Amino acid sequence: MAKCEKCAVDVAEEDLYADHGLQVCEDCKLKSSVSPPETCATRKNMIK
Ligand SMILES: [Zn+2]
Repeated sequence: MAKCEKCAVDVAEEDLYADHGLQVCEDCKLKSSVSPPETCATRKNMIK
């Protein structure tokens, strides 16, 4: 058994994903991928 480093839920090691250097569960991984930080888009617009 392994533990998600974000929400601390117990998951199988095969269900852990690397996210920004953390070992997280599938839920946390999906959450972080569907909502990218808005600062990226904002910064791109500022460069232009
Ligand atoms: Zn999690």
